[in-house]
Amino acid sequence: MPSFSGDLVDMHKYIIMGVQGCGKGTQAQMLVKAYDMVHINVGEIFRWNIEHRTKLGARIQRIVARGELVDDETVDEIVKHRLDEHNWNYGFVLDGFPRNEPQAMFFLESYDIDAVIHINVPDEVVVQRIMGRRFCSQCGLDYNIIQTWPKEHNRCDVCGGRLVKRQDDTQESIERRLQDYHNKTRPLLDLLGRNIPLVDVDGARAPEEIQVEIRCQLGLPEPPAQGTA
Ligand code: AMP
Repeated sequence: MPSFSGDLVDMHKYIIMGVQGCGKGTQAQMLVKAYDMVHINVGEIFRWNIEHRTKLGARIQRIVARGELVDDETVDEIVKHRLDEHNWNYGFVLDGFPRNEPQAMFFLESYDIDAVIHINVPDEVVVQRIMGRRFCSQCGLDYNIIQTWPKEHNRCDVCGGRLVKRQDDTQESIERRLQDYHNKTRPLLDLLGRNIPLVDVDGARAPEEIQVEIRCQLGLPEPPAQGTA
């Protein structure tokens, strides 16, 4: 049975879901940092392959740039391969998977999960956030130029690298991804919710507030203080 025991010695395995730009990456990062888990981000694995010009990257580049979904067989294989690495002691947060019913069925047949975290944000808010999304081409730090301008125009505050947009953050691709989310991904919440505890949070708030609610709903204890070793 899935549990919300909140015992730190437990291994926690979570899926995080929500429309693109809802802040699930940020929430996943906060969780894994606090509880020493591993963030498995499927979109990031694809982007790494595209950037490093691997065989897989060459095959999926156009699909990802258009904001379309990569075929299920490829995605299932990537996720299986990544999960088989077992390089976590305290669990993982799986981000960007499953995205449709066949992926969810594959996942439910093969893996146990403790909870699904769903972040709710209206489409108009995410479109605004995505259009302002930038990342540093050198160190990868995320920015949102609607909320925070870097000190120097288009330059990273930390390393001075050039700030760039994700290739798939265009109006057309965003519309396609939103459509896919509503038609294929969101209906999975019912399916997954029948088998796994579901944590549903309002994502139109400050990231710290959302994180507190997620931890509270998951029954997680206060994390050990960072940097006190
Ligand atoms: P994301 O970073 O989650 O927005 O993912 C970026 C892109 O990677 C998506 O627009 C898809 O092209 C691809 N992708 C990521 N996860 C999946 C998935 N579970 N199924 C199919 N395609 C995916």
